[in-house]
Amino acid sequence: MRRISCFLFVFFFLVTAFGGFLTVTYFVQQGDTLYDIARKFRVSPSTILDWNNVNPLKLSVGQKLIIPQPEGILYTVRRGDTLYNIAKAFFTSVSDIKQANNLTGDNISVGQKLFIPTASIGKAFNIEKGYIWPTFGVISSPFGWRRHPVTRQMSFHSGIDIAAPEGTPVFSSAPGTVVFTGERSGYGLLVEVRSSKEIFRYAHLSKITVYVGQKVDRGTLIGRVGSTGVSTGPHLHFEIEVLSKEEVVNPLAYLPSTTRVYVLREGTEGMGGE
Ligand SMILES: [Zn+2]
Repeated sequence: MRRISCFLFVFFFLVTAFGGFLTVTYFVQQGDTLYDIARKFRVSPSTILDWNNVNPLKLSVGQKLIIPQPEGILYTVRRGDTLYNIAKAFFTSVSDIKQANNLTGDNISVGQKLFIPTASIGKAFNIEKGYIWPTFGVISSPFGWRRHPVTRQMSFHSGIDIAAPEGTPVFSSAPGTVVFTGERSGYGLLVEVRSSKEIFRYAHLSKITVYVGQKVDRGTLIGRVGSTGVSTGPHLHFEIEVLSKEEVVNPLAYLPSTTRVYVLREGTEGMGGE
């Protein structure tokens, strides 16, 4: 019996090898859930959602899924990127990226795809405290009263805006359960994660890589930076609401120090939104 199921399992996927990783092409079977498939291949459901445009709760039999082995994220090099900047976006090191992609020098070209192994994410720039920076960028709009970047009226900003190129990964700042994914006015594509004490909001995403009910850890890929909703350009709006007070708080008080992570320059005019 065991031999038969192994045979079936092998029969339903194909393997393609690249530089430092390979991809498995898996065809969804009757009764499969995203969670089961993720477990089978020892990856996070977020990795499968990042690599594939699928509805996590409505997989169809025969649907093709691409799954990287080892687990990792693909990043497409943009104009102006350096290996150092990309390393920061993944909170990892240049040497880890070079090793994973068999690069000998520092040269990269626009459009080039780089593989970032999940195991190397979060090793640098983003340590200390209980919460981590959800994305690497420049704080373009602080928490509190400010002139709204779109309406130009004075208004209360319920979180911080971190400007970063479209497609920059967004990681869960703290462990919790995903309670909302989808479009919400102003916020654009939004993910809400609930912990025992807070709700975390990640807004204006270009892509969401979690589903409602998913348990996330610190560092789980939530999605990618975008400019959906009320927004002047690609950035992450990051918000923390304390459940006991039903009140939003300044995320900077919860995150590792800005000097430690190199993230930030405050008060700059730049990307913003709700
Ligand atoms: Zn904002």
